[in-house]
Amino acid sequence: MGRYLVTGGAGYVGSHVVLALLDRGDEVVVLDNLRQGHRCAVMTGAELVVGDLAERAVVREVLAGWRFDGILHFAALSLVGESMREPLRYIAENVGNTLWLAEEAVKAGVMRFVLSSTAALFGMPQRVPIDEDESKDPVSAYGESKLMAERGLEWADRCLGLRSAALRYFNAAGADPGGRLGEDHDPETHLIPNAVNAVLGLGPPLTIFGTDYDTPDGTAIRDYVHVSDLADAHLRVLDRLKDGPSCRYNVGSGTGASVLEVIAAVERAAGRPVPHVLGPRREGDPAVLVASNARLRRDTGWAPKLGALDDIVGTAYAWRARNPKGYRGTMAEAVA
Ligand code: UDP
Repeated sequence: MGRYLVTGGAGYVGSHVVLALLDRGDEVVVLDNLRQGHRCAVMTGAELVVGDLAERAVVREVLAGWRFDGILHFAALSLVGESMREPLRYIAENVGNTLWLAEEAVKAGVMRFVLSSTAALFGMPQRVPIDEDESKDPVSAYGESKLMAERGLEWADRCLGLRSAALRYFNAAGADPGGRLGEDHDPETHLIPNAVNAVLGLGPPLTIFGTDYDTPDGTAIRDYVHVSDLADAHLRVLDRLKDGPSCRYNVGSGTGASVLEVIAAVERAAGRPVPHVLGPRREGDPAVLVASNARLRRDTGWAPKLGALDDIVGTAYAWRARNPKGYRGTMAEAVA
C-alpha cells in the first residue's frame, strides 16, 4: 500500500494508471487542470485536485497536504502537430512543469518519480526494434520536450538523489477491459479511435496516411500497446524504484501492425467495413516503429497480457460503442 500523486490523472493513460493503483489498494491524489482531461475519468476512490502545475503554490500545497510515496507525472501538452506550430510553448511548459515538480518533490521528501515519456524522442530511428540505446534525435518539439525532461531528471538524480523512471510509450491504445474507462481526445488524431469513430458513424471516413511505404502492404507499421498493459508497466517501475536505480524503458508490445491490419481488426470488432479514403503520407511519419521491450521484461517481469491486436481494438470499440459521446455523454461532465 502506498500513496501516490498522479498529475494528469484525468487523461487517457493517467486515468488507466489511477485505476490500476486503486485496484491494488493504493491511495491516489490526482492533480489535473481538466483542460484535456475529464472529471469522469477520475475513478471513485481517488481524490481530485483541479489545478495547474504551472502554479507552484498549488503544487506545494498538494505536496504539503499528503505524505506521498511517489509521483507519476502525466500532465503535459502532447499533440505532435501543435508542437511544431508552438515549439517554445511545448518545450517551456513540458520541461518547466516536469522540473518544477521534481524540485518541489525533493523539497517535500518524495524521492520516487515516474515520467510519462514517448517513442517520439527517437525521431527517425535507424534500427528496428528500437531499444533504449538507440540514438535520440527528435523530429518534433514534443519529442524534444520529453527528451529534455528526461535529461533534467537525470540531473535531479545525480545531484539531488531523486530516483526516476521514464517510460517511452509507443502507440498506447485500447480501453479498460472492464469498460470503466476509454480514450476521448479532442481533437482526436490517433488511428484506432478515428477508425472506430468512422465505423460507428461518429466521425468522418478514416484517411489512410500513405500507401506507398516500404512495408508489405504499403501502409505504415506501428507498435500498439494496450493501455492497461501500459498501466501495469507503471506500477512495476514504481515498485522497482523503491530499491532500484533510475531507469528508462521503451514500452511496446514488440510487434508491429500496419494501418490496413488495424482497419481489418476494427472491421472484425464491428462486423462491418470501415469507411475510408486514401491520402498522402503525414509529414514526419516513419515507415516502421516497433519497440524492443526486452529491458522492461528482464528488469520488471512485465509482459503484455492484452497484446493481441483484437484485444486492443476490441476494447477500444466496445467503450466507444457504449459511450458514443465519450465522457461528454456522462452526467457529471455535462454539468462541469
Ligand atoms: N494514421 C492514419 N490515419 C489517421 C491517423 C493515423 O493513417 O487518421 C496512421 C499514421 O500515419 C501512423 C499510424 O496510423 O502511421 C498511427 O498513427 P497515430 O496518430 O495513431 O500514432 P503515432 O504513431 O503518430 O504516434
